[in-house]
Amino acid sequence: MTAPVVTRFAPSPTGRLHPGHGVAALAAYDFAVARGGRFLLRIEDIDGARSRTEHVEAILADLRWLGIVWDEPVVFQSQRLAWYEAALDRLRALGLLYPCFCTRKEIAREIAESMSAPHIGPDGPVYPGTCRALGQAGRDRRIAGEAHCWRLDMAKAVAMAGELHWTDHGRRVRADPLAYGDVVLARKDAPASYHLAVTLDDAAQGITDIVRGEDLFPATHVHRLLQALLDLPLPRYHHHALVRDGNGERLAKRNGAPTLEALRLAGVDGAALAAELRAGRVPLGIFASKA
Ligand code: GLU
Repeated sequence: MTAPVVTRFAPSPTGRLHPGHGVAALAAYDFAVARGGRFLLRIEDIDGARSRTEHVEAILADLRWLGIVWDEPVVFQSQRLAWYEAALDRLRALGLLYPCFCTRKEIAREIAESMSAPHIGPDGPVYPGTCRALGQAGRDRRIAGEAHCWRLDMAKAVAMAGELHWTDHGRRVRADPLAYGDVVLARKDAPASYHLAVTLDDAAQGITDIVRGEDLFPATHVHRLLQALLDLPLPRYHHHALVRDGNGERLAKRNGAPTLEALRLAGVDGAALAAELRAGRVPLGIFASKA
């Protein structure tokens, strides 16, 4: 017998949800319901400086309004920091992490001054590896007194993990995380990065199927590698297309899309909006008149 399906929606409470989030939440919820599975909600609030309780409250109200019901209590990443620390220790013991003392400015300068063209990864210019070259003595000298993040030595990690794949909508995809360069796994200002926390939590919550927007498809290369390094189970992935407005732009606050909260408070019927979003329609008329 195959294991029962478990999906999740994992918003970061750094702002209000917009209709694009609604589409992602409904896709994950419907996937579980259609298979008699469970749907979980996880609040990704490791970014203490940008996460706000008021956003969490609005997110929960928006999801309920769209008719989404979650199983089990909501999980908050801010309560799982010890778990992330343990995984970092394990990767450190494997010799795969190094402390990085560079500021954003220093990295930008280094890239600008480099003779070779910068490598552009899925998240922007790739870290040039400056601190990877520091010897142990240099690290020991600086670590106590200087702010630092922890980076994954990507080449070493890829060599250790060997060839990896995942399935996306049932199709086999070869993981190629090298393009990301030495990603940050513990930030200077947060005890874990998105990549580490999301991978660990999906495993801890027993997520069998990750249904999320295709904007996160590239990040899956890194997540697949972390699963291999940390001996975590491999979920199936189902990245879906993003909803776009009439100009082909993603629906986000910055291009004027109203938040779900604004629509809710304006009296829009949540069930009717959910039906439109499920059908891939963005009822722009509602937005213009009510938001
Ligand atoms: N917290 C992430 C975000 O809001 C999504 C995580 C995921 O679905 O993998 O973009």
